[in-house]
Formats: sequence, structure tokens, C-alpha cells
Amino acid sequence: MSAEQKTNFIRRQIEAELASGELGAVVTRFPPEPNGYLHIGHAKAVCLNFGIARDYGGSCALRFDDTNPEKEDAKYAAAIEEDIRWLGFEWSRVSHASDYFGQLHDFAVELIKKGLAYVDGQSAEEIRAGRGTLTEPGVNSRDRERGVEENLKLFAGMKNGDYADGEMVLRAKIDMASDNINLRDPVLYRIRSSRHQRTGDAWRIYPLYDFTHGQSDALENVTHSLCTMEFEDHRALYDWFLEHLTLPGPSRPKQIEFSRLNLNYTVTSKRMLAQLVEGGDVAGWDDPRMPTLSGLRRRGFTPTAIRKFVELTGVTRKHHIAEMGLLENCAREDLEARAPRAMAVLRPLKLVIENYPEGESETIDAPNHPADKSMGTRKLRISREVFIERDDFSESPPKKFHRLAPGRAVRLRYAFVVRCTGVRRDEHGEALEVRCEYDADTRRGAQPAGGRVKGVIHWVNAADAAAAEVRLYDRLFACAEPGREADLRAALNPDSLQVCASALVEPMLAAAAPARWQFERLGYFFPDRDSAAGKLVFNRIVTLRDSWAKLTEKSAAKTSAKT
Ligand code: ATP
Ligand code: MG
Repeated sequence: MSAEQKTNFIRRQIEAELASGELGAVVTRFPPEPNGYLHIGHAKAVCLNFGIARDYGGSCALRFDDTNPEKEDAKYAAAIEEDIRWLGFEWSRVSHASDYFGQLHDFAVELIKKGLAYVDGQSAEEIRAGRGTLTEPGVNSRDRERGVEENLKLFAGMKNGDYADGEMVLRAKIDMASDNINLRDPVLYRIRSSRHQRTGDAWRIYPLYDFTHGQSDALENVTHSLCTMEFEDHRALYDWFLEHLTLPGPSRPKQIEFSRLNLNYTVTSKRMLAQLVEGGDVAGWDDPRMPTLSGLRRRGFTPTAIRKFVELTGVTRKHHIAEMGLLENCAREDLEARAPRAMAVLRPLKLVIENYPEGESETIDAPNHPADKSMGTRKLRISREVFIERDDFSESPPKKFHRLAPGRAVRLRYAFVVRCTGVRRDEHGEALEVRCEYDADTRRGAQPAGGRVKGVIHWVNAADAAAAEVRLYDRLFACAEPGREADLRAALNPDSLQVCASALVEPMLAAAAPARWQFERLGYFFPDRDSAAGKLVFNRIVTLRDSWAKLTEKSAAKTSAKT
């Protein structure tokens, strides 16, 4: 186990079982339904299941929970595999719930023969109505006392396609008055005439999740079946099946629940994310604003940052909503030390250095990382015309503005100090070009004779800068808990994407292999997959500081000043 791996109640339980000798080798599984892409919430289940198997010398299988033929697709399964590998994990084997359709059918027949299951011809509505409520017991179905032979015959008919979808179901015969609604004769099998992505037309009946999961765990010798809290009330049923069925091996998996990972300003539900994709609110499952692993990957988040985030959120049974800021901080922490530095200008404003000789230029050795000499240096060229960030110039500078303004001086990063001598404006008064003079004695950090210059701004050389599109992202939703809103789409943040279509970057970036960069003063960036030869596109992964924390502090300060 890595030194920084935090322990949790599940790990402690496994350690105790291993120490007492009751547990041989730990076997876990990650059981996604191939009906969408994995999101950051799934990362928690992935890290937990695979991490435990790795740390205790056990194994973890990838099991596709493919019991809903209508919603599932092989393309999702392939994407899920890619995402798990990207996170840094490898499964011991791949299986599918559908691999066990034959055995599950035989289990159902076993229950019928034991008088523990019956075919119910009631409609879905009748079954629902008969189930009762949290305060009222259910009522027995009129079909509950059907004899074994008739049940076997009807179930075979269901299987053979003699009946239509919804005409009848197979139910367990447990207790219609149980305090636990899941034990009130749950449905085990339903008729579905749809084609299954793996078994084709072989089956007309499909088992429900509850009748599939525990038995699949047992067939795979899973020791610890880790799942999220919403399955807590299903555990009694999970155990009931294992107790009443003749399982081939001695395995008795234990279901252990933990709380879901939730993240503010986004949703972690495939169904809700699908709504955004289908509604065209995002550019697809891997839109860099999506909390999907494919979206985070495309944006430039590292697997290290995601694993760290998952670890920091911990494993408990309490409801909790993690802060988006925490995920972003994990990315900053990971990238600060290893992302090489570069300069980029998002909204260029031309700066003409009037006393710099025309036709001349000079090269500067700039460090690739200010704190890590081993990352080396690169050559920057500067000449009479450079581009600076429009925001770094102000004609009427507010207080504490330490950047460029008429009459004021600022250092061009790694180069020299320039003093603004004039502005050329368009007919709307918008600055078109800023003029300045440089002080040749301020190279290599030397301060000008006239007094210290505080401000340092980034720039690119006009003659050789490369054009780029830079995409800046903000929270996908404007409110902290969009999943609670009646209208999910109305809760979207209309400013979640800003495109800087005419950004300029250091020329070396045009030829660089895809990597994560820190663009000085702007944040961490990663080439988007829309990049092509001659077309650079960068995504901002995160800003350098948490701008949202600052905003919250400010508004908190304002509120406390008022009261
Ligand atoms: P969704 O509601 O997004 O469809 P799900 O639970 O239906 O999620 P599955 O594909 O069935 O998705 O989930 C695979 C595994 O991942 C399950 O064990 C599930 O408990 C776990 N999981 C899903 N969402 C989260 C989450 N937010 N936090 C932790 N684990 C999760
Ligand atoms: Mg599901």
C-alpha cells in the first residue's frame, strides 16, 4: 500500500479479516452498466475496488452489468475500458452479467421448484399498487399460490416467447408484509423482446439487477461486493438469494455500501449527463466541461490528480458533496512541479517598442521552470513589436494596477522594462496599438535607474508567434446543486465556455508534442483533440489560483461589512 494511501472502514475490515485468517485473498469487481460514459463519481468506485485488490494482493474483475438490452451498447463498454486503463488500473478478467444468463435462469427454476418463486400475471401497475408503502404492508398477488408445475410451465413459456412484453413476470415469494419493501416479492425476470448486444435473440426474458448481482458475485468468487448507499436496503435481498440458492462454490460475498461521490456545480448521473448531450448543451460526452472521465481527460486533467481527489474525499457512509475547487487544486498541485512554462497571449494588443532598432532582434534564454533547473531553458526571440494581453494595459488604471498604463513602466517577462509613451485608438476609442520605449540597461532583471518596476507581464514576439485558439472553461452549472433543480438545463452556466479565437503562443508550441503547459500568469493548458497541423487549440485545465474561492471571500467580506 502506498504511504499516502488513506485507510477507511472497508480497508480496516479487510485487514481484520486477513489478520484473523477468515479471508484468503480479497476479490472485488467494478460493475458498470454499459449505458453511458464513466464520470468522476465512478472514479471513486474504480479506485476503491481496484485499489483494494492491488494493495492486498487480491484481484478485481471488470464486470459489465448488461441486463437492460434496450439501453446498452458495445461502444460504451469500450469507452469504459479505456477510462479505467487511463486511471491507471487493469482488471484480472472481463465478464458480463449476460455470461450468466443460463445459470441465472437455472437459479430461477430452482426457486420455483422450492416454492420460492411464482409467475405473476398482474400488470406492472397492479404489482406496484399491491406492493404497499413504507407505512402499509403490501397485499398478496392473486397468482401467489400458483402451483410449482404451473409456474414452471409458464416460466418456460415466458422464456420461449409465448407471451408479450409485460404480460407476466417471475417474482420471488418472500414476504408482502416485510418492513423492507425490497423483500415484498421482488420481480426476478421480465419479458423483453429486444435484441441484446451480446446474446442477440437467444433470450426473451431478462433478469433484474437484484437477481443478477449477488449471484454473479458468488459465481466469480467475489469476497467484497462494494456498492453505493442506495443499495443498503437491497442487502437483505442480496443475502436472501445467496441463502436460498445452491451455489457452485463456497463463496459468500459480502455487500458493503459506501456513500457516493458527489461534486458541486455539476451532476454525477449518467441519465442527467445524457440529457445534456442529447439536448446539445455540450459538445458530447467528452466535452471538456463534462465531469466524465473522457471530458476531464480531454480537458487535460491527469489521472494522478483524479486519484488524489478521490482519495482526499475519503470513503465513508455519510452523504457529502465535494467541492469542485478541491478537484481543481489537485490538478494544480500535480502540474505545478511538472508542467513546463510557456507564454501565450489570449487577447493580443500590439506593443511597439519605438526605440528598438527596426529589423533587429535578440534571443533570450528563458527557464522552462522557475524552480527546476533540470527542466532546462528555451530560446525566446524579441524584437520591435510584441503582443501583450489587452487586460495588461489600461488607459485609466484603477488603484493597485501594476501593469502597463500611459507614462508607466512594466517589465516584459525575461526581457526588459518598457515605459508607455502613447496609444493609437480606433474610431470607438479602443486601443489598437500601444507605443513604448525600452530601457536597454534593464536586461536580466536589472532595475532601471529611475526606480524599481514592480509589474511583470507576459508577451509573445509579433514576428514569430503562432496563432492558436484557446478555450477557457468555467463551471458547467451556475448553481451548486444542479441535480436538485426541476429544470436541469435551465441551471446551466451560460458562460461556461469562452473561446479566445485569436490567441498567440510561443512559436515552439506549434511543433511541441502534446503536453500540459503552464502559460505564465494564465493557468495550465493542454492541446485539445481538435488540434491539427497548422491549427493549435488549447484547453485551459485550471487557472493558477482558485478564482472562485477569492470571489466567495470577497462576497463574504462584503456581507460581513454590511452587517
Ligand atoms: P449513474 O446513476 O450515473 O447511472 P450508476 O450507479 O447507475 O450511476 P453504474 O454503471 O451502475 O452507474 O455504476 C457502476 C459502479 O459505480 C457501481 O458500483 C456504482 O455504485 C458506482 N458508482 C456510480 N456512481 C458513483 C458515485 N457517484 N460515487 C461512487 N460510486 C459510484
Ligand atoms: Mg445504474
